[in-house]
Amino acid sequence: MKLELRKTFQFEAAHHLPHVPQTHKCRRLHGHSFQAEIAVKGECDPKRGWVMDYAEISEAFKPLLDRLDHYYLNEIPGLENPTSENIALWIWRQLKPRLPLLSEVAVAETCTARCVYRGE
Ligand SMILES: [Zn+2]
Repeated sequence: MKLELRKTFQFEAAHHLPHVPQTHKCRRLHGHSFQAEIAVKGECDPKRGWVMDYAEISEAFKPLLDRLDHYYLNEIPGLENPTSENIALWIWRQLKPRLPLLSEVAVAETCTARCVYRGE
C-alpha cells in the first residue's frame, strides 16, 4: 500500500516569456509568487508510521529554492524560457536524484493556474 506526501514551497521571482508574441502580456518583465508542490509516493514504514520525514523533502528542495527565490528566472541556466512547464521539468530533473520517491512536481504561477509533471 503506497501513500503520497505533499509539501508546498513558495518563492517570489521575476520572469518574462521570450517566445510569445510581442503583444502578449507575459512578454513583459513581471513577477509571481510561485508555488511549487512536491509529492513523494512510497510504502508506509509500519513502525514509524510514515513514508518519510517531511523535513527530508524540505532538505532536498532547499538548494533549488535558494536558487529560485528572489531571482530573475530567465538568467538561470535551463530556465531561459521560464514557463511553468519548464520550471516543473527543471525542478524534477534536479530533485529526482536526491529524492528517489519523488512522484510529482506542480508549479503554480497564480492561484488559478498550475502545471503538473509526473516524470513521464
Ligand atoms: Zn508570468
